[in-house]
Amino acid sequence: MDFRDRMLTCVNCGKEFVFSARDQRYYKEMGFENEPKRCRECRALFKRERQIVKDCNGNTKEFFKTVCAACGRPAYVSFKPTGSKPVYCRDCLVAEKIKQEQGGEMPDVTPDAPSAPSTEAAG
Ligand SMILES: [Zn+2]
Ligand SMILES: [Zn+2]
Repeated sequence: MDFRDRMLTCVNCGKEFVFSARDQRYYKEMGFENEPKRCRECRALFKRERQIVKDCNGNTKEFFKTVCAACGRPAYVSFKPTGSKPVYCRDCLVAEKIKQEQGGEMPDVTPDAPSAPSTEAAG
């Protein structure tokens, strides 16, 4: 099958970007069913906002960068923040947990992310 460069619209910034023939082949080889939704810049940005962390079992976990609703510092959570719920960093989560335990209401998510992720090595 022949691949041709196609123009797609970035869902993030609305700009058109090229989904190159090479990329299409790569996507096909990787078994990706969805076309890329973001342009290269937004994708790079999005990538930076994520953390892939290996747990003790060797499983990789994906963390999303967001901002703590309590202290405003960067927080990493194991789910994609939707904005409908406040997200706390590790420190504030502990404080919130204590508060909620006293109040009786339990949080339904338990972010377990590194509080200070190391910077990505250049590659
Ligand atoms: Zn974009
Ligand atoms: Zn916090």
